[in-house]
Amino acid sequence: MALTGLPGTAQAAPATTAMNGAWCNPAQGSFPSGGGFHAPRGGGLHLGQDISNPSGTPLYAAAAGTVIRRGVAVIGGRTGNGIVIQHAGGMFTYYGHLDAFRVALNARVAAGARIGDMGTTGNVTGPHVHFETHSGSLGNPVDPVPFMAARGVDLRGGWSRVNPGASGQRVRAIQHLLNQRRGAGLLVDGVYGSVSSGAMRAFQSANGLAADGQVGPQTWPVLVYSLRRGAGGSHVRALQTALNKRSAGLAVDGDFGGVTESALRTYQSGNRLVVDGLAGPVTWRALVG
Ligand SMILES: [Zn+2]
Repeated sequence: MALTGLPGTAQAAPATTAMNGAWCNPAQGSFPSGGGFHAPRGGGLHLGQDISNPSGTPLYAAAAGTVIRRGVAVIGGRTGNGIVIQHAGGMFTYYGHLDAFRVALNARVAAGARIGDMGTTGNVTGPHVHFETHSGSLGNPVDPVPFMAARGVDLRGGWSRVNPGASGQRVRAIQHLLNQRRGAGLLVDGVYGSVSSGAMRAFQSANGLAADGQVGPQTWPVLVYSLRRGAGGSHVRALQTALNKRSAGLAVDGDFGGVTESALRTYQSGNRLVVDGLAGPVTWRALVG
């Protein structure tokens, strides 16, 4: 399939999609029973989705925005230390029961930036994050599971979905991976426009996948590489970019040396993955989720 788009020309404006790369998974973990949206809770209804993991598990901003509240009982009285982030388009996210804050009030944060640690403050039976999504205004909570799914994020930790038209760090990782897979020579600009999505469709077609340009649960496992120390190339740049989305602060040099391995092990340890210094499918799934 021929790729459209010439060097130096603007990529065609893609169809708008909510799976635009702006949102990401705020925490690795499992859903505890009774922790879903609108579960009965203390005579009322539970207004978020709980995600459980040991205290200290990193919490990440679900999208770019500004920290507008940070403290104890900043939204309701039962969820301990919490953070509210205001996002574009009248969207808000709330993270409760934190053991530690890793961001200041009024700070601007990128999607995936570490903002705090999962914990046990407030009314809990075990460590977890109480995660709320508000749409339209703060005070209008909606079920976080479909809210995030519509934005390409599986809160249970599955592979993300990224549609043509997306942008951001996850798209940079995709472009690096395509360059490794196909020698595609894509400009790594974080814009999943017609050139990059055309290259993706060609990759999907060559691998027996639906050639729809969506990078989702079928495409990601075929696209990523298992990488360990000593590897070098664009696939390592993809890994370093994905780690940086989670606040690793690496140089994106394509060299999987000791610094990258250390950052990978830190990520695996914090997120309760097997700490083997190997970027395999489970680690990739968490990183690009
Ligand atoms: Zn909760």
